[in-house]
Amino acid sequence: MRSHLLNDVTAEQYRRSVTEGVERVAHRLATTRRPFSGATPDALAPRISAVDLDRPLGDSSAALDELSGLYLDDAVYFHHPRYLAHLNCPVVIPAVVGEAVLSAVNSSLDTWDQSTGGTLIERRLIEWTADRAGLGPAADGVFTSGGSQSNLQALLLAREEAKYDDPAQLRVFTSESSHFSVEKSAKLLGLPARSVVSLPTDRERRMQTVWLAAELERCAAEGLVPMAVVATAGTTDFGSIDPLPEIAELAARHGAWMHVDAAYGCGLLASPTRRHLLDGIERADSVTVDYHKSFFQPVSSSALLVRDTATLRHATHHAEYLNPRRAVAERIPNQVDKSLQTTRRFDALKLWMTLRVMGADGVGQLFDEVCELASAGFALLAADPRYDVVVSPALSTLVFRYIPADATGPHAIDRANLHARKALFASGDAVVAGTSVDGRQYLKFTLLNPETTAEDIAAVLDLIADHAEQYLGENLVHAS
Ligand SMILES: *Cc1c(COP(=O)(O)O)cnc(C)c1O
Repeated sequence: MRSHLLNDVTAEQYRRSVTEGVERVAHRLATTRRPFSGATPDALAPRISAVDLDRPLGDSSAALDELSGLYLDDAVYFHHPRYLAHLNCPVVIPAVVGEAVLSAVNSSLDTWDQSTGGTLIERRLIEWTADRAGLGPAADGVFTSGGSQSNLQALLLAREEAKYDDPAQLRVFTSESSHFSVEKSAKLLGLPARSVVSLPTDRERRMQTVWLAAELERCAAEGLVPMAVVATAGTTDFGSIDPLPEIAELAARHGAWMHVDAAYGCGLLASPTRRHLLDGIERADSVTVDYHKSFFQPVSSSALLVRDTATLRHATHHAEYLNPRRAVAERIPNQVDKSLQTTRRFDALKLWMTLRVMGADGVGQLFDEVCELASAGFALLAADPRYDVVVSPALSTLVFRYIPADATGPHAIDRANLHARKALFASGDAVVAGTSVDGRQYLKFTLLNPETTAEDIAAVLDLIADHAEQYLGENLVHAS
């Protein structure tokens, strides 16, 4: 069994095995004609259950052969131009090279003595990102597993910085379109459900700051403590960007921590033409960035940035075996002092490779392209009488629904849209997402693939219309 350990003796075997895996993926990418096979859970589950985990196959060729039928044949492929569903991006090759390197070397970024240069590379990238956000000379941060963890840590810091006697006094203000991880984080931090105040949005699905102002006043009048205002720069459903300068002003006036959740909108930090959409982010106390959404990085790659490095102490614990206090005196750079995690992947290497190969403008241009594609898609939808489209996109998301020509009740329209999404997924021709808007069912394109064209969008709209019409036709037949 020692022949499977990666070391000096097996280096050649490692090269062959990994190359074999890479070749299979390359073949798959080159020949996949649809984003998805349409396989159902019922079809896949028995195949995976049938594998006897106590009877190994012995070598990776055999395991890779088996994996084709268990996973690769029926995976959902985000690189396909007709994958239009969630906030998943196609990945850039330099990042995948970084991924291969980081998992083989397997550095752990908790302490210097497990990572050395890795820690310094991560710190440079945090500095680089914080600098692009304009967070100032004392800024810092740490890579995390994703936006949810970044938001949790931000709210932990906000709570620790707040002055209060009873946690029941704390209030977190956010918009009704913000990510659910804000509420979940509050719950994890032991705050009661009423502590998260969800503010109405305007037509463009941005937080209405008149409501924020009023709620902050009310909070003060009631003797409560405004722990944090969470603004979203790129909401998950609409890509809308809250008015950051006004929010910063209000948060400052009321002494609230300002967190900007830029999990989606962070790509604008690299955009050669759209950086101004994030104006106001420089006033944040903390920022969430998901490189695995708009920097074309493989999952996971995310970071939490803070304006003041001192605030990260709220995540610090000194363990004698790992990061004793004397390491601080010796100025040893240990990232575990800043992180909720202990053992932690060197995910930063992927972004490092990306910037060293493509440069920031290169990545930013790709994000610009998908934002432009979304504008073209909006024009198509707005001109198409079959569709109702919700808002003109700030980033790369389109929310819309199919509306049949003949008068049909609102429930039938909901069901037709739900059906169209499911039927499309089952066909594997395209993958689209769904959401609800004002209680009605809508469909959603999250455009993160620069290879998707306006023709792809038009073709998928035709497919949706066909599926919806077919459903309505069959249902009318049923009813009559
Ligand atoms: C995706 C998303 C998150 C959660 O990030 P994960 O990386 O999925 O944990 C948080 N906020 C916003 C606005 C998001 O779009």
